[in-house]
Amino acid sequence: MNRESDMIRVLVVDDERNIREGSERILSRLGFEVLLASRGDDALQTLEDADVHIVLLDLKMPGIEGMDVLPIIRRLKPDIHVIVVTGYATVETAIQAMKEGAYDFISKPFEPDHLRIVVNRAADKIRLGRQAEKLKQERQRTLLDLDTEKSRVRTVVESLPNGVIVTNTKGEVVLTNPALIQLLEIDSDAVSEGRIEDYIPDSELCKLILEISRGRHVDFDDIPDHEFSISGGKKFILAKGQPVLGEKRECLGAVVNMTDITHLRMLDQMKSDFVAKVSHELRSPLSTIHEQLAVVIKEMAGEEKAVGDRRLLSKAREKTKGLISLIGDLLDLSRIEEGAICHEPRPVDIGGLLSGIVNFMESRAAAKQQTLTLNLPPDPIPELTADPLALESIFGNLIANAVNYTQEGGEIRVIVDMAGVNVRVKVVDNGFGIEARYLEKIFERFYRVKNENTRYITGTGLGLPIVKGLVDSLGGFIDVESAPGMGSTFTVLLPVDNP
Ligand code: ADP
Repeated sequence: MNRESDMIRVLVVDDERNIREGSERILSRLGFEVLLASRGDDALQTLEDADVHIVLLDLKMPGIEGMDVLPIIRRLKPDIHVIVVTGYATVETAIQAMKEGAYDFISKPFEPDHLRIVVNRAADKIRLGRQAEKLKQERQRTLLDLDTEKSRVRTVVESLPNGVIVTNTKGEVVLTNPALIQLLEIDSDAVSEGRIEDYIPDSELCKLILEISRGRHVDFDDIPDHEFSISGGKKFILAKGQPVLGEKRECLGAVVNMTDITHLRMLDQMKSDFVAKVSHELRSPLSTIHEQLAVVIKEMAGEEKAVGDRRLLSKAREKTKGLISLIGDLLDLSRIEEGAICHEPRPVDIGGLLSGIVNFMESRAAAKQQTLTLNLPPDPIPELTADPLALESIFGNLIANAVNYTQEGGEIRVIVDMAGVNVRVKVVDNGFGIEARYLEKIFERFYRVKNENTRYITGTGLGLPIVKGLVDSLGGFIDVESAPGMGSTFTVLLPVDNP
């Protein structure tokens, strides 16, 4: 009935048979397993053979007396609870037995209830002891588990292929892995206690990690990825940091994951080089064909019968013109991406520059019965220090797009004002608009939104990437808000003092 671990075994040692059997009956009913012995030496033998927890020991027996058996039990099996059974006349002996280490005593003749109480008391003590032992073992096991869990996490972090660095709330380094040491080419001897700057050679990233560690970025979405290079620009690394949050979402520090993206950068570079090279190689033969077509068309001008051929050649010339402008865009873009665009910054009156572009574009807008207006603020705008050609390209592209992607009779407004230290230029149209899911894509190379409205509008999908590249190179910022059928607003911020 009982599991072995819960079982309590009682050995009743008494020379009187009816006491032995009576005790057995009472104790068995209480769930104890009962063994019997009629003599002291039998009792010792049973204790050798079986795992006994309580001994009910009659002190007065033939052969070895109970009083002699007691010290032997105490010596051989000190955990056994011995309850001595004495006659009325031997209370002193009982006291002596207690001194010898007996757990309790019971006087003869005893009532069943009396026996039950005394044996149950010993049994409770044994059960308590067992429970305490179990708890102790469990605690030891939890500690052991914790230890193995800790070393397991450590092993996982150590074997990650990416570099990992963990800081505490003060921004001190508390954990790194071998991949990080290798990736950042850190001399392990040179790093002192946890100074982040000793590990990371990029001050911007150190600043970001400090901010994350101090709990400034609990919202994961606002943490920018950070790219930096080491080994004199030969190795590129992408770092992604995030806070380590506790149970109550309190910040406990930062964990930063670093990946070697040199190969991606090289691939990008190779692609740009390839595009630049191919564009360059194509440009002159194509321009030649374009010019030669013009000559042929001119020569055919008087020939009545060649009208059809002339139309064909004019179409071909249109196509070569499109290709030449595509190649021009590609070359511009690769120069901007390479940072090879030679900016010649000069003080520029942005109002004057924009009014020139608006005047130039007015005829295109008028051809679509659109109104194109420029709103300048009442107060004079400080001059921008920038390359006027870059500014022409930025706003020329944006205004041309507004005209292209707005229906006939639409309205395009160019609005200029100051936003802090920045000049803010908004190009607002009430044209086709752009669905939210394309808003980021339109700044990618060759991306064009394809729908009923844009179907017949020609373009390369390179205008906005060029605009973005130029705005970035001027230390500015570009954003777009748009809703289909409502129109689009492209906002450009340009710092007055461009570093
Ligand atoms: P392109 O005009 O040559 O296609 P861009 O890079 O300038 O290339 O623009 C990419 C795409 O963004 C366009 O094809 C068009 O779908 C969309 N777009 C740009 N400007 C606007 C605008 N003002 N209104 C609506 N859609 C626009």
